[in-house]
Amino acid sequence: MPQKTAFITGISGQDGSYLAELLLEKGYRVVGLVRRSTHFHHENIGHLVGKVTLEHGDLMDASTIEDILAKHRPDEVYNLAAQSVPADSWAQPIVTAEITGVGPLRILEALRKLKLPARFYQATSREIFGGAPQEVVDESTPFLANNPYGVAKLYAHLMMMTYRQSYDMFACGGILFNHESPRRSLHFVTRKVTMAAACIALGIKDPPLNELGEPLVQGGKVRLGNLDAGRDWGYAAEYVEAMWRMLQQREPRDYIIATNTYYTNRDLCQVAFARLGLDWREHVESDPRLMRPTEIAAARGDYSKAKAELGWQPRTQFRELIEMMVDEDMRRLS
Ligand code: NAP
Repeated sequence: MPQKTAFITGISGQDGSYLAELLLEKGYRVVGLVRRSTHFHHENIGHLVGKVTLEHGDLMDASTIEDILAKHRPDEVYNLAAQSVPADSWAQPIVTAEITGVGPLRILEALRKLKLPARFYQATSREIFGGAPQEVVDESTPFLANNPYGVAKLYAHLMMMTYRQSYDMFACGGILFNHESPRRSLHFVTRKVTMAAACIALGIKDPPLNELGEPLVQGGKVRLGNLDAGRDWGYAAEYVEAMWRMLQQREPRDYIIATNTYYTNRDLCQVAFARLGLDWREHVESDPRLMRPTEIAAARGDYSKAKAELGWQPRTQFRELIEMMVDEDMRRLS
């Protein structure tokens, strides 16, 4: 079998780094897109330098994307790059539309123009269901995105489906529910909580900054948004396996990847602080400035189709996942 080439956008992110590891293990040549910045500071892929080929580019720039695809002629393209923070999409709706919504279209257009037969994976999100009233959603649930990020992801998902139908492309949308890991960025509540718990336990004087540009921990407390909000949280390293499996099928289809479990931010805080012998109620407070204008409703994802057709199911439990993140933050800070 000739060696396959995979192109990953967003390789420096949480999922991109795990996917690159998985594909290297499987013998792929891995090419990754990174944004040019003044310094190389890609923490998640430092250990992969020399093993993957990095190309500089931006999802906003169609011509560079086309040049990179023409140069490497990948067999599989995984589009993981995005303005990926739903909460930030309220402050930056236009940038979110440009990167998260139109960005994937720039790749699809490049593939079409170059007549490349590459298989395409689009990182769709459960946020496309937004305010859907069902407690559990599956692939047949109507899309009701209700924040700028979800709307941008929905546009990209529908364009991916349109290109699949219109141009006979092998294109799949992985409708992933929240997934976390020690590589999760501090923009997300799980990592905020595990990092804050570790900072408090170790008495760190100069904690990282939160999304408001303020110290993550002030006066021994971390500020969060809605403590009653909850999510279906899984482990990122397992979710990238599902992405790969989607592109190995005979037919391109879309799949929900989730755990079908539900925990609130209170549960998250309880598990994280208890891991360090702390009572979360003494260290967490809700801050109205961190509330979302609208909350998503649909709570859990039914992954039965992925289980039946991809042979995929989640393995890591919520508690295990959060404790792993706390332990890793303790190790890093120590
Ligand atoms: P992440 O850690 O935030 O990574 C996002 C990646 O996109 C980073 O590598 C980032 O590069 C890159 N990026 C951002 N803007 C770009 C641009 N204009 N051009 C090129 N690259 C750009 O996200 P993740 O958690 O790995 O998620 C991967 C994908 O799955 C995203 O599309 C996300 O929206 C989607 N998704 C994630 C979840 C989840 O729970 N994690 C759930 C559903 C869907 P920099 O390092 O330069 O910022």
